[in-house]
Amino acid sequence: MAHPSVITVPAFGNAGSHVRHFFGTRRHAMGLGLEVGIPKKGMTGASSSSWTLSVKQVHGTEALVVDRALAQTDRFMGGWDALVTDQPGVMVAVRTADCVPILMHDPIRGVVAAVHAGWRGAVAGIVPKTLALLKSRFGSSPEHVRVSIGPSAGACCYEVDEPVLNRLCQEFPDWKNVVRMSEEGKAHLDLKMLVKEQAQGVGVAPRFITTVNLCTICHEDLFFSYRREGKVNGTMVSAIGLPVKRG
Ligand SMILES: [Zn+2]
Repeated sequence: MAHPSVITVPAFGNAGSHVRHFFGTRRHAMGLGLEVGIPKKGMTGASSSSWTLSVKQVHGTEALVVDRALAQTDRFMGGWDALVTDQPGVMVAVRTADCVPILMHDPIRGVVAAVHAGWRGAVAGIVPKTLALLKSRFGSSPEHVRVSIGPSAGACCYEVDEPVLNRLCQEFPDWKNVVRMSEEGKAHLDLKMLVKEQAQGVGVAPRFITTVNLCTICHEDLFFSYRREGKVNGTMVSAIGLPVKRG
């Protein structure tokens, strides 16, 4: 069987609002032609009349909120690691290699988010901060939000050093839940688990959290990996958007 070019999860389809989403693979990333900060119309994996927007990512915790229709002339030249929109036909996208792509959807309030979280952003709380923004700006109750955690560096491979562990211990009291010790005595960070625990910590229902348990470092055939390849050869694109309204 040929490898799929994108990965989808049932979590969003079950909400009944036809939200579009995908977690991309290295094959999918080829030839998308997505330019950073510039909306692109009619991209693969989305409908021909929808826009896709990806912006410069800076390993911070700030979110860009797109609350109006996009136009060809729009430019978003700042840096943001979360993109939030309530606009039908706008796919918000993040680019990752080993960092975690996280997609969110609140079917009650009709709002979606795409989040890029490496260890810095995750430890600094980008996921709870984005959920807080959904609440303050759009009235989203965390218990209604679907959260899907995509392919990233897994605890199997993601060795971290002392500065990372120190930051983690300062910011996340339950840090022991998300660190595994290897047989060689090296600390491995479970980024996906960290994100999951943070989401649950602010009230997201466990049954609404899904995790794509694939490691980007292990799966060379499916994913680019900065850690494995030692340089940036490419990034995967993951996105989510509300469907274009008919009529
Ligand atoms: Zn692995």
